[in-house]
Amino acid sequence: RDRPAVEAKKRAIGETLEDAEEVADHYNKRREVGIHGREESPIIALRKFNNWVKSVLVGTFARGRDPHLDGRARARGGRVLDLGCGKGGDLKKWEKVRPSGLVGADIAAVSIEQAIARHQESNRGFPGDFFAFDCFSKSLADVIPLELLEPMFDNVTLQFCMHYAWESVDKARIMLDNVARYLRKGGTFIGTIPDSRELRDRMAASRHPEDRSFGNRYYKVMFDQTESWPAFGNRYTFFLEDAVENVPEYVVDFDVFEELAYEAGLRCIYRKNFAEIYHEGSRQGEYGKLLQRMGVVDDYGTLNVNEDMWQAATLYLGFAF
Ligand code: SAM
Repeated sequence: RDRPAVEAKKRAIGETLEDAEEVADHYNKRREVGIHGREESPIIALRKFNNWVKSVLVGTFARGRDPHLDGRARARGGRVLDLGCGKGGDLKKWEKVRPSGLVGADIAAVSIEQAIARHQESNRGFPGDFFAFDCFSKSLADVIPLELLEPMFDNVTLQFCMHYAWESVDKARIMLDNVARYLRKGGTFIGTIPDSRELRDRMAASRHPEDRSFGNRYYKVMFDQTESWPAFGNRYTFFLEDAVENVPEYVVDFDVFEELAYEAGLRCIYRKNFAEIYHEGSRQGEYGKLLQRMGVVDDYGTLNVNEDMWQAATLYLGFAF
């Protein structure tokens, strides 16, 4: 859907469709294409690259309960909270660190149904509980039974979704409270978001300043305004070929994020653009091999992601608190 059409629809029915509803509506309408359909996607190489980055974050930062274990084993037995879990695309990545349980939540009810089905279809070896609600406007305890929250989580993960919370400081605070309240001391919070430095630099260098946009054949970012750079509600619409169709998102200024997170008891230990994660990870034995196994690079170690897709990929950063 293009944004003007959505705005026109809102006006026509005299309705103020909230951005969060629009986001939910978008993700609810995305079809489940299955593994074979996914292979046909024009951005399959980018999807694989993003999945590799998430695997690196999980492998590097996942925590369990036994302080004597190290490496991947360190994460064994940990409990996971996946907010904005979508269709459960990361279940397999978590399975590798053998958690004792996972709780997933997402605003898109259709995606949650798919996540439940995905978890049930393959015997994941750990219990999974899934809930459909707006994780950036509601407290977890309003929806999720306490017996799933109070054992505390060792890991909280928000992949490619935290930027939707940056509409207002209130939403960002609710989101961070949901992250921190049931995260045990010493546990980790990981995620991926658009890199605010990249958004700013690319907009400044844009060849299309007249419509406040930049991008290429795979992605497009279009700002509502460029006169100021507010800490919250700095809205743009995002398009990603075969994935996201002009959905409203918000810039997450990382310094502001770090400050708010600190107030919630979270300390930043890692922040890297995807380009850096790739350059570092590809030189590490385990993650270098994983690049090949996941089909991100070919047999000669050459990236399958072309230059334009690389531009879309490196719009993002990964973080850990
Ligand atoms: N984390 C999944 C992954 O990495 O494959 C899904 C990422 S998808 C790009 C963004 C997800 O954020 C969507 O599933 C969307 O429904 C979810 N989302 C957006 N706003 C949300 C909110 N307020 N509460 C919960 N989930 C939300």
